[in-house]
Amino acid sequence: MDIHEYQAKELLAGFGVEVPRGGLAYSPEQAAYRAREIGGSTWVVKAQIHSGGRGKAGGVIVCHSENEVYDAADKLFGHRLVTEQTGAAGKVVYRVYVEGGVSIARELYLGLVLDRKEERVMVVASSAGGMEIEEISANEPDSLVRCVVEPAVGMQAFQARQIAFQLGIDPQLVNPAVETILGSYRAFEQLDATMVEINPLVVTTEGGIFALDAKMTFDDNALFRRPDVAELRDKSQEDPRETRAADRGLSYVGLEGNIGCIVNGAGLAMATMDMITQADGQPANFLDIGGGATPERVAKAFRLVMSDENVDAVLVNIFAGINRCDWVAEGVVQALERDPIDVPLVVRLAGTHVEEGRRILAESGLPIIHAKTLAEAADRAVKAVSNAPKVRKRNAPAKVADEGVPS
Ligand code: ADP
Ligand code: MG
Repeated sequence: MDIHEYQAKELLAGFGVEVPRGGLAYSPEQAAYRAREIGGSTWVVKAQIHSGGRGKAGGVIVCHSENEVYDAADKLFGHRLVTEQTGAAGKVVYRVYVEGGVSIARELYLGLVLDRKEERVMVVASSAGGMEIEEISANEPDSLVRCVVEPAVGMQAFQARQIAFQLGIDPQLVNPAVETILGSYRAFEQLDATMVEINPLVVTTEGGIFALDAKMTFDDNALFRRPDVAELRDKSQEDPRETRAADRGLSYVGLEGNIGCIVNGAGLAMATMDMITQADGQPANFLDIGGGATPERVAKAFRLVMSDENVDAVLVNIFAGINRCDWVAEGVVQALERDPIDVPLVVRLAGTHVEEGRRILAESGLPIIHAKTLAEAADRAVKAVSNAPKVRKRNAPAKVADEGVPS
């Protein structure tokens, strides 16, 4: 789960990381009021969307008066911001964060990630902050500092000091830098994060150290024990299809194609997507309905897949090991009797009680296209799409260019 910059800053501040004064606003009036509360003569109005790269996309606006803050917020609210990370659909701005302007002397990078190969938390830092980490490692690989944390003892102060020295931080600023690095690590560990990124971490001309941007991602499987974190979820920033699936306990990832997939098992789901692609088709989604594919789950899966207007055919691919094909077949029949679908349906069943399953589907009288193998199923689904009349409504392309992105 991702959260917004202002939320990440609030969490990190609780662990001793210095952040500039700021306040959240849901309207231009509130934004101007926040600026007055913060004081000073320079403010930065920042679009709160779950994405980096907002600066380049016009989502970070420097202002020199309350009126400018009002106008900047007015421009951003309701605007669909398209960054390098959002994809063409962009993300809509419903909240802005107003922050005191900071005079920047140096921009650094600080990131904490889970290194799966090392099975450790890894701290990555660079003196070339402001850029994306991919750019840094491509353009300035020598600036990268890495430090692996031993989980049994946690991050040690000497490690944080070493990072600070390697970043070339002035001696009098080493202590606050160490506080920032250790605080970020504690936040990572104690909140079950999978990523903390402060980019840029800045040294100001007045000699302070601030997290000017912050990003945190959390382990979904640990949210049950972090209610304060779980509460920060903002569904407006998620793919609505994936949100619906998560709410129903299904593992779903929305894709760009038009063949909806209902599959049990993540591996089989991946293989199904591969076979569709090989047959010159495009999957509309990854969907793993899990091992116990009860009729209710199958019905939920159908509803979810059909809620995607781009779906022109559905492919059900079930390998029943623990499960039973006849139960799945009953699920399919029940689901379709309740909510008929208006696109071709290809079903491939294999495994336990397969004959019984096929008989149930055949006797149902439903217009199901049967397939014996996965290759055959993919092929038939692709053919069904190209033969079927296009009756379903297409998703309108995301509005991007015509909304006057502020620069
Ligand atoms: P993103 O990474 O999404 O582009 P950032 O929060 O990193 O957004 O902001 C982009 C840039 O804007 C920063 O690298 C920094 O140069 C500038 N900036 C952001 N916040 C402030 C601030 N409070 N004061 C001064 N400059 C800022
Ligand atoms: Mg940033």
